[in-house]
Amino acid sequence: MQPNDLAFDQHHIWHPYTSLQQPLPVYPVAAAEGCEIILTDGTRLVDGMASWWAAVHGYNHPALNQAIAEQTQAMSHVMFGGLTHQPAVDLCRRLVQLSPAALQHVFLCDSGSVAVEVAIKMAVQYWFARAQPQKNRMATVHGGYHGDTFAAMSVCDPVNGMHNLFRGSLREQLFAPIPDLTPTDHWHDDALAPLQRLLEKHHHELAGLILEPIVQGAGGMRFYHPQYLKQAAALCRQYDVLLIADEIATGFGRTGRWFACDHAEVTPDIMCLGKALTGGYMTQAAVLATTEVAHTISQGPAGGTFMHGPTFMGNPLACAVANASIALLEQGHWQTQVAAIAQQLEHELRPLAALPSVADVRCFGAIGVVEMHAPVDVAQAQRAFVEAGVWIRPFGKLVYLMPPYVISSAQLSKLTAAIANLARQQ
Ligand SMILES: *Cc1c(COP(=O)(O)O)cnc(C)c1O
Repeated sequence: MQPNDLAFDQHHIWHPYTSLQQPLPVYPVAAAEGCEIILTDGTRLVDGMASWWAAVHGYNHPALNQAIAEQTQAMSHVMFGGLTHQPAVDLCRRLVQLSPAALQHVFLCDSGSVAVEVAIKMAVQYWFARAQPQKNRMATVHGGYHGDTFAAMSVCDPVNGMHNLFRGSLREQLFAPIPDLTPTDHWHDDALAPLQRLLEKHHHELAGLILEPIVQGAGGMRFYHPQYLKQAAALCRQYDVLLIADEIATGFGRTGRWFACDHAEVTPDIMCLGKALTGGYMTQAAVLATTEVAHTISQGPAGGTFMHGPTFMGNPLACAVANASIALLEQGHWQTQVAAIAQQLEHELRPLAALPSVADVRCFGAIGVVEMHAPVDVAQAQRAFVEAGVWIRPFGKLVYLMPPYVISSAQLSKLTAAIANLARQQ
């Protein structure tokens, strides 16, 4: 990359959640392999982010490379309208087998946000087909994140999601408080009372309750008690509200189980998958539904058509690499890897809780979070991290790790040491 490339980037290209005129600095990447990102000046950075939960096997993985390369020789893409192909059938069969037994039907789509749109549409069409069109609103909890498209934004945390900015464009949904008991807290049933009151009062207008199971990701990196999810699922049945589990961040082993729902032995009516689905290689998401949901929609008006069908639906390259990624997971090493990462994060991050700059340390599965008392200066922190040879992107008061599962213990120590340095200097 030439200096004028960086200047072009700065003046012409938006990066995620930044101002075009006062952008945060960006670092030019030449390549990535294993658990390292390699900058154009040759600097190697140990990756603590797995490219936002996605690159669970690390970068430039031979099996994933091969799957994509082979698929390009057959076809990179064909429309999914009126056509089907082996990579898509194999992937959907796998997803049906891995997910809770009642989830039998799959809709493939472009990205996590679109999966959330699709899930909400399914819930609305389900009640429409049951002649209850007034059940078309969503309930959720504060502190959530479900994506950046409009229906997804409407169920994000109202403050983080800047609902003020989009008032008038967003459907006003119903919010229960953040589930406040953590997985290690002593459970008491009162924790469900606000959600119960909300469902009791509004179930007649509610299509569904959407939750990130156990782990609230980009809305605040919080972990809540599996019993909350279990009892929320029971409330949904009691009040005739569909449960949508957004497993986009948590799916495929991140929390130590295949899906975070497994911690509570909950089967949602609809489940969204994304991020790690393709091992971080391509954008692709999937929405799974129970037979009850799928068949009810199919018996509805307009011939039971489900009203969605993206251009790149079922993209064969994305399906092929997803199949290869899941095949790697099926070998089972991720279970010991995630358990080892969990233990090491707990061991190396927990002591930081004693520092005056640190408000809280929390770990769950292969996720470690250090919450500071004050917001972190991202540009400054990233410069220090890059100098230390690590890639960590803080957000707000949160400095967190969700590394590739294949990270070595020495690499992980490099990441936790860099966070410790930052916390000591704040
Ligand atoms: C990232 C994320 C999304 C949105 O996925 P995109 O692929 O970025 O659109 C939705 N829900 C959760 C829980 C996520 O972590």
